[in-house]
Amino acid sequence: MAVYHEIVCEQALEQPRIPHDGQAELTPYLGCEHGCAYCYLAGLRPAQPGADAFDDVFIKTNVLEKLEKELARSTGQVIVHVGSLTDCYQPAEQTYALMPELLRLLLRYRVPMTLCTQSTLLLRDYDLIDALSRETYVEIAPSVTAVDESLQRKLEPHSASTTARLDMLRMLRQTHAVLGVQIAPVIPYLTDAQEDLVFLLHAAHALEADYVQSTMLYLRGAAKERFFTWVAREYPQLEEDFRRLYKTGGAERHYKNAYYERFHTLRKQLGLADHPRKLQRAMLQPETTQITLF
Ligand code: SF4
Repeated sequence: MAVYHEIVCEQALEQPRIPHDGQAELTPYLGCEHGCAYCYLAGLRPAQPGADAFDDVFIKTNVLEKLEKELARSTGQVIVHVGSLTDCYQPAEQTYALMPELLRLLLRYRVPMTLCTQSTLLLRDYDLIDALSRETYVEIAPSVTAVDESLQRKLEPHSASTTARLDMLRMLRQTHAVLGVQIAPVIPYLTDAQEDLVFLLHAAHALEADYVQSTMLYLRGAAKERFFTWVAREYPQLEEDFRRLYKTGGAERHYKNAYYERFHTLRKQLGLADHPRKLQRAMLQPETTQITLF
């Protein structure tokens, strides 16, 4: 279990890593106890000097207070990306329960949001998400990786199973939320078999997902050696193949392109969109104005 550290933040809403007008990130927790083998957090600067990205979790205890002030003084609308940096429904949320209050605030100010999680703890807040989705744009898009459960457990030791995440989306279909399936990251040799792709895309189609996206594993900085250490332990016969394929942060172009071609061919055959852009535009345009948050 991770060590929890309570901290105070200067502001709740932050500029996205790629700044974009009218968009903000809301990250109640720094660090992520889910500890996925491929996680990019290992390649980023730690939340505090010497902190471990997965064993030290920092809880922004004043995030509600800050968010309320920021929303109260805003003069327009911003789309808030919740949990886009670290999982907002990670185990610490069981203890700190920041999300219900954050969602109540978003509901009070009718703030559109996107949310990405690997945890079914989100269903605890089903009623709030349902209510917000009836007021404004809400997008829920969990990632899914491995179809094989034992592989998924090794890759994502503390996250909900792929089946549970797909079931969660099925339940959310009763809300007005836009639903996405992120097949990401795709792990070469391990999760990119055609039958797995067929399974996931058919599941997305069956639950009437609004869009589906897929991204192949990218390994930045220290995240690369951490992942290779995991491969050497769990699949030693593949270590050399991975090192050859990942001479840089991304997989070799020919391998990626062949995967994306298979993905888009099947996606189009099933009539699945690959981006929620049109839905976002349609739902937000009439009321979206720029605000000064940063
Ligand atoms: S859930 Fe996301 S942020 Fe958390 S460890 Fe996994 S990949 Fe990293």
